Amino acid sequence: MVPGNLFIITAASGAGKTSLIKALLAEDTHLKLSISHTTRKPRPGEQNGVDYHFVDDAMFLQMLGEAKFLESAEVHGARYGTSQSAVDAPLQAGHDVILEIDWQGAAQVRQLYPNAISIFVLPPSIETLEQRLNSRGQDSQETISKRVAAARAEMRHVSEFDYVTINNYFDVALQDIRAIIRAHRLVGAAQLQRYASLIQALT
Ligand code: 5GP
Repeated sequence: MVPGNLFIITAASGAGKTSLIKALLAEDTHLKLSISHTTRKPRPGEQNGVDYHFVDDAMFLQMLGEAKFLESAEVHGARYGTSQSAVDAPLQAGHDVILEIDWQGAAQVRQLYPNAISIFVLPPSIETLEQRLNSRGQDSQETISKRVAAARAEMRHVSEFDYVTINNYFDVALQDIRAIIRAHRLVGAAQLQRYASLIQALT
């Protein structure tokens, strides 16, 4: 079995990353999303074990102490972490795995998995980002301003990523990410392993 590829997808909130990942997962059964652990409270409609594993601080710290996380970070006052098992089992089974994590987690994963492929999703403008953050609910102007500042801080790390896509048109950004995933599935070294008998017969 040829191990799968590890894709990191990062974006400032409001860039549309979650919808893009949902669309990718719906069309491609070889892709698996790693479900993170978090200490943040579930939002309406979010399900434990589906959107996140929602845990309390004590449980998170216990897992951290037991080295269960391959990366973890504090984002907007809550802890987030990717468990080793959420990544290694599907990779070994030949699936490609997506990590939807922030720039701090991306930096940690690059150290451990130098072959990980990282993609940053940018909004087309700061105005669009503000509009998207605004249209989410009845948040105060102060909350929106804080989120925009946090988004700018996240986007300052864009140069650390292998690929950058602008999510102006959803379908175009989706095509971009699809293309990145597809190209990495065709990397020669993996194809030689996958098609060893064909290549032997042909050569
Ligand atoms: P939200 O709480 O809105 O779902 O996510 C907030 C931020 O935390 C997003 O930037 C998201 O990518 C990031 N995040 C989610 N899961 C993880 C994780 O396991 N590790 C890290 N480092 N960041 C995460």
